[in-house]
Amino acid sequence: MSTRTRALGGALAVVVGIGLIGLPGASAAPGGVPGPRFTAGAEGAGDAYFPFAGNGGYDVQHYDLDITYTPPDPAPAPLEGEFEGVATITMVATQDLDRFNFDLRGLDVSALTVNGRPARAVEPPAAGVEVDGAAYWHVQDDDARVWELTVQPRPKIMKGQTVTVVVWYGGTTTRPRDIEGFLYGWVTTRDGAMVVGEPEGTMTWYPVSDHPTDKATYSFEITVPEAKVAVANGLPARDPVTAGGWTTWYWDAPDLQASYLTTASVGDYELRFSETDDGLPIIDAVDDALTPGNRAITDGSLPLQPEMIAVFEAAFGPYPFNSYGSIVDDDSVGYALETQTRPVYSLRAVESTVAHELAHQWLGNAVSPGRWQDIWLNEGWATYAEWIWSEESGGASAQAFFEDVMSIPDDDGFWEVVIADPGPTGLFVDPVYDRGGATLHALRVKIGETAFFAGAREWVSRFNDGTATTEDLEAVYEEASGQDLGEFFDVWLRTPSKPTSW
Ligand SMILES: [Zn+2]
Repeated sequence: MSTRTRALGGALAVVVGIGLIGLPGASAAPGGVPGPRFTAGAEGAGDAYFPFAGNGGYDVQHYDLDITYTPPDPAPAPLEGEFEGVATITMVATQDLDRFNFDLRGLDVSALTVNGRPARAVEPPAAGVEVDGAAYWHVQDDDARVWELTVQPRPKIMKGQTVTVVVWYGGTTTRPRDIEGFLYGWVTTRDGAMVVGEPEGTMTWYPVSDHPTDKATYSFEITVPEAKVAVANGLPARDPVTAGGWTTWYWDAPDLQASYLTTASVGDYELRFSETDDGLPIIDAVDDALTPGNRAITDGSLPLQPEMIAVFEAAFGPYPFNSYGSIVDDDSVGYALETQTRPVYSLRAVESTVAHELAHQWLGNAVSPGRWQDIWLNEGWATYAEWIWSEESGGASAQAFFEDVMSIPDDDGFWEVVIADPGPTGLFVDPVYDRGGATLHALRVKIGETAFFAGAREWVSRFNDGTATTEDLEAVYEEASGQDLGEFFDVWLRTPSKPTSW
């Protein structure tokens, strides 16, 4: 994500005070005979910042999303869309499952099957109350920020079993907001939707295990009114098909992807197809309604993408996915997000932001945060990559950017943020970006060019297609440098004051 503009406030210390609620349903095999022990999958992936994001008990392999979307009518009609979806989710059980959950917010389920067998909708049962047969229920508690679709499969699911769940769902789309009040998820716009799910807003448009630790592949079939364009991750699977006033767009994203990096933005886009010298396909989608000034900025930046890819391949290793490109939307969301293979930009694509979102493809997307408290690994690296791009393209040096950060006075609140644990409402505050970038520059100076960039490439290759934590980064750099960096990282990442020696 590119920096959201906000003041550093006192909200940083807020901690989500919701614990995980255990579900009943454990049952041993009869007569003490060793056998499956069916229990409920966890309601969350175990993330301290977002306890109900993601789920336990299974590993999603693939999401096939079949969506029909009608954008709002012209003003003054409400800014609401109509959404119908069929999600086909292929997953493998990681325990013997009595029940399991998806995250789904603001849309309603009309039917659901497990391995082709229908489940019936029931009211959420009280704790300890058994439900007969195959069933599902949906809790949507906006005040507690709990949105859980629970499925009770019958027969129960054995560990290791592959399960196909089909969910028919839909409703009216609005403009969801995250824990800090920023727009995210399926953000309905006058001409379509800008779809940006970080950190756990993807549950606003399909049933999902909405945490980076459960990556999956994706395919999309998105039907919109004729003349609208729907752009998702990856590459077109086939040409769009128009019939009866509707156009269906087909996209296929075969690289493992964290849920927050999924997009299916809809708008009045011009599609521009090109490729790098190495043959990597680039697909840009630029909104027809950009202002002339924003169009000029965007048209100056997007052609630099192939050169930026080359610079970052030299720094971080081979580009990790099958395609790239940018979606530039005329909207009021106010930030950009590095959705996988195809970042989304609000209003304009500024050169430094284009470098930032591109760098996230290696740093955040190929290697994703294992916990949301590790967000500095995304934003510190992407900020540092902006500095690298500047340096490599004839602009200010990384050292100059570093000195700029270090010119912030000692008593400024900027230095009070512990960037290795900024709190759930501190994910996108300035220090996560700028102190994060400064941390990496200080590391580069301390251990030298060779060890620094060898470590960066090792980081990406070792954790590619997965997730990693701050401790993992420290281990990689201690190996790459042969140095004990414990004090260095404590000073930079875990001390709520300005670093003075390291
Ligand atoms: Zn970012």
